[in-house]
Order: sequence, then C-alpha cells, then structure tokens
Amino acid sequence: MSALLPTYARSGLSFARGEGAFLFTETGERYLDFSSGIAVTALGHAHPRLVEALTEQAKKVWHVSNLHHIADQERLGQRLCDATFADRVFFANSGAEAVEAAIKAARRYHFVNGAPERYRLITFQGAFHGRTLATIAAGGQGKHLEGFGPPVDGFDQVAGSDIEAVEAAIGDETAGVLLEPIMGEGGMREVPWRFLQDLRALCDEKGILLLLDEVQTGVGRTGRFYAHEWAGITPDIMSSAKGLGGGFPVGACLTTEAVGAAMTPGTHGSTFGGNPLAMAVGNAVLDVVLEPGFLEDVAQMGLRLKQRLAGLADEHDDILEEVRGQGLMVGLKCKTENSKLIAALRERGMLTVQAGDNVVRLLPPLIVGEAEIDLACATIDAACGALKSRAREQA
Ligand SMILES: *Cc1c(COP(=O)(O)O)cnc(C)c1O
Repeated sequence: MSALLPTYARSGLSFARGEGAFLFTETGERYLDFSSGIAVTALGHAHPRLVEALTEQAKKVWHVSNLHHIADQERLGQRLCDATFADRVFFANSGAEAVEAAIKAARRYHFVNGAPERYRLITFQGAFHGRTLATIAAGGQGKHLEGFGPPVDGFDQVAGSDIEAVEAAIGDETAGVLLEPIMGEGGMREVPWRFLQDLRALCDEKGILLLLDEVQTGVGRTGRFYAHEWAGITPDIMSSAKGLGGGFPVGACLTTEAVGAAMTPGTHGSTFGGNPLAMAVGNAVLDVVLEPGFLEDVAQMGLRLKQRLAGLADEHDDILEEVRGQGLMVGLKCKTENSKLIAALRERGMLTVQAGDNVVRLLPPLIVGEAEIDLACATIDAACGALKSRAREQA
C-alpha cells in the first residue's frame, strides 16, 4: 500500500527522464508526451536553457524571503508587464494560489474604492480554478465541493456564454466576473471571443472587474502569449501558472495599476512565491517564448495538428465527435468513453489527459515539431482503429 493520500488514480507508469516531447520509463520505454504534465512543461523536458538557468541559480542562492529585493523577481515582473496589459505582478507557486490572489485583489479593489459590499464574483458552470476552499467555490463543481463543508461565500454561477445571464446576475454586491478564456479541465470548451468582448464592455459599464484565469491558456499555449489577446481585449486581473515555470512551480497574479495599488504592504503574501530559483527559470521560459517567431510557430503547429485531427475525426466518426481548441490546446470530444481512448493511446506510447465533457486533451510541449505531430496522429489513428475492432468483436 502506498503511503500517499489516495487522491489520484495513477497510471502506474514511472518516468526516469525526459527529453523534448518524450519521456522515458525506468525500463527505457519511450512515450510521446502530449500531456506536458497538464500544460506545464511548455518547453518540453530538459530544455537546455531551463536546465542551465536552474543549475546556475542553484549554485548562487536558492531562497531569500520577500522581505528583501529579489532582482530576478523584479525582472520577471517587469517583463510580464511589458508583454501584457498588466502594471503589477504578485508571484505565487501554483495556479490555485494565483487565482486566490486574483479573487482577493478584486475584493480589495472595491474595498479601498468605497464599495466594501462588492465582494461577489460571477463564475461559469463547468469552470475550474483550483482546489483551495475559495477556488473550489469559484469552480462550483459538486464533485470538488462535496464533503468540505459550506462553500466559501461570494460566487454566483451562470451557465454558458450568455451575456444576458451575466447581466442579470450582476447585483450591488458584484465585484467582477471570473472565467477561463478556454475551459481546460471542463473539456477544452472555447469561449466565443465575441463573448469576451461583450463581457469587457459590460464590466466597464457596471464598474466591475474582469478577471481571467489563464493558468492553462497562458504563456503561449494558444499561439498568443495570453489567450485573451485573440479577442483583442484586456482583463483587470489575470492568473497565470502552469507553463510559466516550464515545470518549476511558478504562479503569478497580474493586475492593472488601479487594482494593484489596493494590495498594500501586509494585505497578501507567500513565503516561497517569487523565490530566486523559480524566477531564474521563469525568466528563461520568457527568453524562449517571447523570442520573435516562437508564438507564430505554436499557432502554425496548432493548425497542423487540428487539421490532421479533423481528418481523423471524419475517418473515425464512430469514436471521435469533434476537435476543439486553439493553438496547442486541443481537445478531442469522444463518442466512446474518453478514458478508453486515453488507455489505448497509452498502450501505444502516447500520453494525453482526460477532461470534462468526455474530452481527451492534447497538450504537446510548445516546441513540438512536425514529426512529433505526425507520430501523434498516427498513434491516434491506430488507437481509434483498435477501439473500433474491439467494439466489433464484442458486438
Ligand atoms: C490547473 C488550473 C488551475 C489550478 O492550478 P494548480 O497549479 O493545480 O493549483 C487553476 N485554473 C486553471 C484554469 C487551471 O487549468
């Protein structure tokens, strides 16, 4: 029996090392990694730039508290602001913490601006924002809330991308609207860019804040640095994590000056957030992702992947229903159980991730090449073929 809490249904695979888009088990079997540790290892495994950044920093200093100036933290913060809408950044260590900071900042903004009653956020059915008490309340999913006492107060859920429903849900206590530009865990469900534009206008009209959770969609995943750029709008507050550290735990909450100014000394904190090791790696990730042409390549590879998958969905229309997503954040909505396709892919040396709405998530590293996309598509083709003949045998 394992000493670990049984919170995960684990595959039983154990990886000893990784290289680019591939992982190798302790016995040397190779797996094509189209999961990237759930959109985390954005530059693949053992990227030389990241390995160098981490090992060089490890020889200097690992940790000092946030009671001191941390040069690389200032630098990464400034670079994130220069490349986005933001004026201020708070560093954390995970996605949930980045969302938690976003929720606190939204409440605090209204508090210091004379509207302390505005503490509620409008969220969306099927959303995922993390596993802390506040973020499970924000996500509002029964399976995540069950058994953990009364949900944290302050979240009002609406269904679908329905601007009228959002408007109807706005009250005197509403602080803002929180959503993912593409629902990752919820099944790679795209939010229409038009809806994001309408939300931006509605928030401005009502004097409330737009909060985007870009923990999964950010850092190049969709072919733009952050996904909201596709919609041509900017949020007031944004959470980022996953790809930001390329595999090292880094989270960030980005805000406008108006919101950031409300977070005065003592209002929030994190012991580990923004520590020198994390910041060295975060800066190295940006070195690569913000290089001219990198994001265009991601968009290009994403198109290639989606085109190939659309062909496979036609060919295997008894197994696959639809291809979704943007850039290298792609979902395969299945007709058979998604877990069966994931298992069939794993048997053939390819890793993917389950998502809600019976979807298989494809999250290759952003450095993926044509050969690996071709290999992935051939593997999906073979797995679908095998599922089909298995179903035929059973019939
Ligand atoms: C993964 C995820 C989170 C939670 O991140 P953790 O690092 O697991 O806390 C929050 N929001 C979104 C959109 C995510 O995909």
